[in-house]
Amino acid sequence: MEEKNDNEIRTEQNKTIYVTKSSMPSFDEYTSKIKQIWDSKWMTNMGRLHKELEEKLLAYLDVKHISLLVNGHMSLEMTIQALGLTGEVITTPFTFVSTTHAMVRGGLTPVFCDINEDDYTIDVSKIENLITDKTSAIIPVHVYGNICNIEEIEKIAQRHNLKVLYDAAHTFGIRYKGKGVGTYGDASVFSFHATKVFNTIEGGAVTFQNPEIGKRLYNLKNFGIRSETEVPSVGANAKMNEFQAAMGICNLVHINEEIEKRKQVTEWYRQRLDNIEGIVLRKAQHNVEYNYSYFPVQFVPDLLGVNRDEIYEKLKEDDIYTRKYFYPITSRVQCYKKMFEEVKTPVAERVSTNILTLPLYADLKESQVERITKRILDQIR
Ligand SMILES: *Cc1c(COP(=O)(O)O)cnc(C)c1O
Repeated sequence: MEEKNDNEIRTEQNKTIYVTKSSMPSFDEYTSKIKQIWDSKWMTNMGRLHKELEEKLLAYLDVKHISLLVNGHMSLEMTIQALGLTGEVITTPFTFVSTTHAMVRGGLTPVFCDINEDDYTIDVSKIENLITDKTSAIIPVHVYGNICNIEEIEKIAQRHNLKVLYDAAHTFGIRYKGKGVGTYGDASVFSFHATKVFNTIEGGAVTFQNPEIGKRLYNLKNFGIRSETEVPSVGANAKMNEFQAAMGICNLVHINEEIEKRKQVTEWYRQRLDNIEGIVLRKAQHNVEYNYSYFPVQFVPDLLGVNRDEIYEKLKEDDIYTRKYFYPITSRVQCYKKMFEEVKTPVAERVSTNILTLPLYADLKESQVERITKRILDQIR
C-alpha cells in the first residue's frame, strides 16, 4: 500500500473549497424515482416525469405557463425565436456569455446598455437613448438573483412597442411583490444547470404569458413536428429527458431547505465582511424574496490597497476557488472584440474588474466561511 505524505492528509481546514457544489438528492431517492423509467422504457419525449416536473414547477414558480427544455442556453435561443425577435435588442454585457451568444446566434444585434452601481442590473435610465427603429426587444438579466427595475422596463417596452425577455437563470423561486418572478415580461428563461440553486443536471425552462409562445416553443424543441406526417415549422431538438426531470423532482423536495442553508451561509459571510471600507456586499432589495444564489463581493482597490485579481490568486494558493463572475464583460470576450469595439459601459467595466463571487452552496460550513474570509481580511489589513 502506498503511504500518504503530509500533503495528502488533509483536514477539513485545508481541504479544497470550490466555488459551488451541486445539490443532489440521496442516491436512493434518485434511483427509486428513475425506477419507473425502466418500467415504462420511456426515457424522453415529454414522458410522465417531464409532466410531473412541469406541474410541480408551475406551482413552485407561481406561474401560469412553462416549457421545459434541455438547458438554459437553448431556452434562450428558442425563446428569442418564439417571440419573433429581429434586428437589435437592448441588453447588458454584465452577464454569462450565454445571454449574448443566444442573441448573436439568433441573428440579432445586441446593443449594450450599462448597469446600475448597486444591483448590477440594467440601468433603465439609459435604455431609451439606445432604441432605434430596428429595436425589437429588451433582454435584461436578473443578475445574481437581483431583480431588474421591472416597472420601468415595462413602461419603456409599452411606449416603444418592444418585447421583454428576462434572463432569469439566477432567479429560481424568487418572488417579486408576492408574485413569481417568471410572471413579468413576455417571457423569462431559467437555467437548471448543475451549478444553479435548483438543478435537473442540465436543464432549463421558459415561463411566459401568452400560450401561443408555448406552442411555438414546443415546435422548436421538438423538430417542428406536429404529427407523424405534419411538420409545419422548422425546429431543432431541445427536449428535457426523463432522467433530468427525475433529478428535478427529487431536488425540488429539498429546495426550501437548501435555500435556508444558503441563507445561513450568506449570514456567516455578512457577519465577517459587512461594514468594511472597500468591500461592497450585495444590498437587499425591497419586495424580493431572495434565493441566495450567489455571494458577490466587490473589492475596491483604491480603498483596500489590493485588487480583486490579487485576492483571487491568494485564495487559490490556499485551495479556495472563487469566480470572476462576470469577467470579462461579454462585449469584450475574444469572439466579440471586433464586433462591439466602441461599446461604452463604464459601470459594467469597473464592476467586472472588481467583483468576485465567493464559494456558496448549501453544505458550506461556518468553519470554511471563517477560513475564506480570514484569508481575505488578512490581505487587506
Ligand atoms: C447559467 C446561465 C445561462 C445558461 O444556462 P445553461 O443551463 O447553463 O445553459 C444563461 N444565462 C445566465 C445568466 C446564466 O447564469
